[in-house]
Amino acid sequence: MSLTLNRDRMISEIEALASISEAEPPVVTRIVFTASDLKARAWMKARCKKAGLTVREDAVGNTFARWNGSDPSAAVVGTGSHIDAIPNAGKYDGVVGVLGGLEAIRALQQSGFRPRRSIELLTFTSEEPTRFGIGCLGSRLLSGTLSPDAARKLKDNDGATLDEVRRGAGFPGELEEVKLPIGYFHAFVELHIEQGPLLEQQQIPLGIVTKIAAPASLRILIEGSGGHAGAVLMLDRRDALCAAAEMILAIENAARTSGAMDTVATVGICDVFPGAVNSIPSRVRLSVDIRDTDVRRRDQVMRAIETACHSISNGRHLTTSFELLNADAPADSAPIIIEALSQSCLKHESKFMTMVSRAYHDSLFVARIAPVAMLFIPCREGYSHRPDEYASPEDIARGTLVLAETLAALSE
Ligand SMILES: [Zn+2]
Repeated sequence: MSLTLNRDRMISEIEALASISEAEPPVVTRIVFTASDLKARAWMKARCKKAGLTVREDAVGNTFARWNGSDPSAAVVGTGSHIDAIPNAGKYDGVVGVLGGLEAIRALQQSGFRPRRSIELLTFTSEEPTRFGIGCLGSRLLSGTLSPDAARKLKDNDGATLDEVRRGAGFPGELEEVKLPIGYFHAFVELHIEQGPLLEQQQIPLGIVTKIAAPASLRILIEGSGGHAGAVLMLDRRDALCAAAEMILAIENAARTSGAMDTVATVGICDVFPGAVNSIPSRVRLSVDIRDTDVRRRDQVMRAIETACHSISNGRHLTTSFELLNADAPADSAPIIIEALSQSCLKHESKFMTMVSRAYHDSLFVARIAPVAMLFIPCREGYSHRPDEYASPEDIARGTLVLAETLAALSE
């Protein structure tokens, strides 16, 4: 089998998809179930149909584009990623996995290859947590990681429920029908930009992901007492922001002293109430993101954070409460897919390294019901989630070619 990609077509498709955005180019903003997301979905479905794929959508909008294999009853080989984008994002996050998957299928079709197992290209709904506060909404439901009941409780910032929003966007089915059975996928492979600098630094064009780190996030609500910034003396204060400052450093310290480089903790949001220059902060809400490749160590760090925050809070006579938003397990890649990816790299004389994905992806959740692995390509300076995110056409094409070869091997 000799595979040729249409690299120009793929790059022009990446540009075309980037132009469907709520922001001016080169900025990409495509929030789930907004007009631009729906337009991008329609555009994507048309590309899939043009390639002869059979398209179906589930109740949360996950889209499946299937190339039927000669044995339609065999478990399918899946690939894909997401096309939603956070505000002020770039062109490549998720998109490379979806359009690369499509180009891989077209290259296989053109080579005369006929799969035994059907090959399915998935576009997952809302990998980004922008609208409903939870990332990987589509893959969580599809893998049974999030229950339909819990999903129905989700609301966007305007108070609209997920059910209202998805039905309004044209996805009226029952959420109960989204979950796929174990055994549906024979294998699932996701192509993605690295979103970190390692491949570029080491000048290695491909990364085979052997493990995806375990993410957790929580909110900390600190309640003190407000008052006039001039009139209340220091000894009488119960300043919530001063406590938050100590807590942020305690969180940093908990991650730094976990004993492993793989532990990371970030306070990304600090909401201060009332937020006036002459008013003592009475209430602060922190949003904390904690990740590790070892779930026990991650949970230990979370307990250490909770203990430290309670002690800071007690020492300052404040009330502090914790809300756990998610605490997910890590995922290991499946040896059969790592092997298929390695063989494909060798076949195409591409150097590769094995690596851990510290960002999470839809594959983390698909791993609950299927063997998965991921293939990373470099992105400039490791930049992602910003408009100057960039992956070169050569790197995209190389990753797509290795993906195509891997899908072929897995679908035999
Ligand atoms: Zn992504």
